[in-house]
Amino acid sequence: MPDHSANRPESPRLGRRDLFHSLGAAAAGFAIANHAVAAQDAAGAQVVDRSSSIRITGLKTYWVGPVVYVKIETNHGIAGWGDVKGTDPRVGKVLVESLFELIDGENPTRIEHLWQKMFRAHRDIRGGAILIHAMAAIDIALWDIAGKLWNTPVYRLLGGPTRDRIRVYHTPQAQKVPPHGIYEHSGTPADIDRMVKAIKAAREKVGPTGAVMFDAHSAVPPATLIQLAAAIQPYDVLFIEEPGVPGNIEIFKRLKEKIDIPLATGERDRTIYEVIPYLHERCIDVLQPDCCHTGGISQMRKIAILAESYYVPLAPHCTATFLGIAASLHVAASIPLLLIHEFYPQNAGFNLPGVTRMEFAYDADGYIGLPPGPGLGVEVDEPRLAEESKKPQKYKWPGATLKDGSVADY
Ligand SMILES: [Mg+2]
Repeated sequence: MPDHSANRPESPRLGRRDLFHSLGAAAAGFAIANHAVAAQDAAGAQVVDRSSSIRITGLKTYWVGPVVYVKIETNHGIAGWGDVKGTDPRVGKVLVESLFELIDGENPTRIEHLWQKMFRAHRDIRGGAILIHAMAAIDIALWDIAGKLWNTPVYRLLGGPTRDRIRVYHTPQAQKVPPHGIYEHSGTPADIDRMVKAIKAAREKVGPTGAVMFDAHSAVPPATLIQLAAAIQPYDVLFIEEPGVPGNIEIFKRLKEKIDIPLATGERDRTIYEVIPYLHERCIDVLQPDCCHTGGISQMRKIAILAESYYVPLAPHCTATFLGIAASLHVAASIPLLLIHEFYPQNAGFNLPGVTRMEFAYDADGYIGLPPGPGLGVEVDEPRLAEESKKPQKYKWPGATLKDGSVADY
């Protein structure tokens, strides 16, 4: 038998004395060398994913109406889409273009890494609403790319479906009542009566097994809301939405003490950091993150996990194009605690007919099926979008005023 021992690497042999010496500088080199070999074999060393050659190569943005459509292109011919909404589109557009400098040339499937890179890049503006809305569009587009790359719906990448269908509103079985206006700092009996009548009418419409929700829209003064909540007890309201203006947890705590109906909020809260106080103070029963406002699919999923640990279900806020709607539905499809999902597919302000398209169908119970795939499962008519974006676009800042000329929440 041939002796190959000469070719074998020499195994280091250490006696007891040597071992003691290994604590000293002489053996330090050996320890480092061994560590280097181990590191090379470790899965962690493969974090760059050398097997994947996909890279981000381009960005296109289209401003149409209240939305900036974002397309991220790759060297594999796969592109992902997202939308920026809930901000001045002129600002959203340039901010996405600016953020693109941080992700250009990167592997688009490193979604969490790229999210952190954008979030923590500029220490002074981290977490601000406008930054997070722009980042959400990019995050959603990256998930779209990942789903298309692996030919699977996004919810499969989020752990797989936790349900077979998604309960949505508005349907014949679920209605949300708006606050019917803005209010002075104290409502009148006539104001309360108007809201009570609308809630009663909604209950009659959906019947005893349906869902009635009331959206206070941060417009009803706390004292009036407490009176209203007592008056609507007989109509079994699923939740009161936005009972207060986000930003002061003490108002939510005060309302939670006085109101027996479940309270919901979250559409204007960004990232896990802004929902922690509601959960920690136990002053909210339902969380309503908006995928496009809270930092995209990555953050919405984290918010759902945080809420789950407090046994708080999600009722996601969702006014967006089919891109934003689909993104939110994919999260809803993959989380354990979902109450109901806001769903306005015909919202022409966002869903300009023919620009984005997603297959969906309501069933007899007021549910829709899981969102399609691969990726978000949304088709975009880019030539049409490009054509629409060439038309003059306008943005007007919203706002509300009380009778005395002072500024109101709405
Ligand atoms: Mg709302």
